[in-house]
Order: sequence, then C-alpha cells, then structure tokens
Amino acid sequence: MGGTEINYLFICPTKLWYFSKGITMEQENEWVDLGRFLHERRYAGEEKEVQIGSIKIDFIRKGEIIEVHEVKLGKSMEKAHEMQALYYLYYLKRLGIKARAVLHYPKLNETKEITLDSREEEVEAAIREVQRIKSLPAPPEPVKSKKCKKCAYYELCWV
Ligand code: SF4
Repeated sequence: MGGTEINYLFICPTKLWYFSKGITMEQENEWVDLGRFLHERRYAGEEKEVQIGSIKIDFIRKGEIIEVHEVKLGKSMEKAHEMQALYYLYYLKRLGIKARAVLHYPKLNETKEITLDSREEEVEAAIREVQRIKSLPAPPEPVKSKKCKKCAYYELCWV
C-alpha cells in the first residue's frame, strides 16, 4: 500500500476507490501541476521521489535520524498529509528504520514535524479502512464538498 491511498482516505473515500482501481486523472489537474512546479523550484538540491518498497517519499535527509520530507500545497487537507506522513513512519519502522517526518508548506512558509510516538493504532485503523474501501465492488457514494472543485475525479462523480 502506498502513502497516497492513506492520504486519499482522509480526503474522500470515493477518490480513494477510483485511485485504487488504477483510474488516475491527476496529470490533468492544474493543482497537481502547480504542486510539482513549486516542489521542483524550491527543493532543487534535494534528491526527490525516493522509493522505498511501496512508498514514495518526496525527499529524505539523513542525519542522526532519517527525516522524511513531504511538500504540500496548502493546509486544507492537513489531516490527510499528517496521516500519510505517519504511514511512512509506520512503514519504515517495520523495516527497522527509525524516522521522523517534516511536512513543508512552501506557499505558507511553514513546516510541521510529525513523529509516530503512540499513534501506531491510528495508522493501523487507517490501513484497515483503506483495505475495506478497496475491496468494495463499486465506489462509495460521492459526497459533494469544497474538495470536489479541485478534484481530478470531478467529472466521474458529478457530470
Ligand atoms: S469529486 Fe468529490 S466526491 Fe468525487 S472523488 Fe473527488 S472529492 Fe470525492
């Protein structure tokens, strides 16, 4: 399971279901393009998109402890960002790697540090829920919200 699925669980279960079936329309979404542009420009010196097993991390810094860095556009999906970062830490822990995560919000000039600490059960509950949604024979009924306007699956849900 990749971090994107955990992220989408906290954005929209319908989105998660479409994504898990290999229906990817994100490249057509201008918000994703903007994110890529910001990422490339601001973090030019970093080695990007580090693949470890099934997870792909924006970039990693190695010091006393491994730091997992994720770059995000804005904070409206903060819970999803946080759970994605927690999932990475959980995944790495199972590989015997102790790490912490840093979320970057370059447009806001903010960062947020995330540690796994006592949140493993929260991650495990999220993993179970992702598996449940992926196993559904049809997408969960869409629920219209502000998020839909920027969602690449808008046409699948609402047109
Ligand atoms: S358009 Fe809205 S309901 Fe449909 S997948 Fe996207 S966020 Fe979910």
